[in-house]
Amino acid sequence: MKTKMKTLEELDDELDIRCIRCKKTPYELSEYVDAAKEIGITAQQFVIYEEGTYNPKSGHFACTECYIKLNMPASAKGWKAP
Ligand SMILES: [Zn+2]
Repeated sequence: MKTKMKTLEELDDELDIRCIRCKKTPYELSEYVDAAKEIGITAQQFVIYEEGTYNPKSGHFACTECYIKLNMPASAKGWKAP
């Protein structure tokens, strides 16, 4: 039996990545939708690859607006959403 490789879109569907504060997905945040479109990936992939606050363990990130509202937490290693 041959196992089919999952496409990026299928992997995308399995993930539920949300902003820690506003609970929006990358697809609901135009800053990620627009930036991702420019380089030809999905908004969710953009957060995974490019968003510094994305935490793969929790699936959380902080969008720019919420990051500012959280008083821009920072650490030497780079802050990740809990
Ligand atoms: Zn947010």
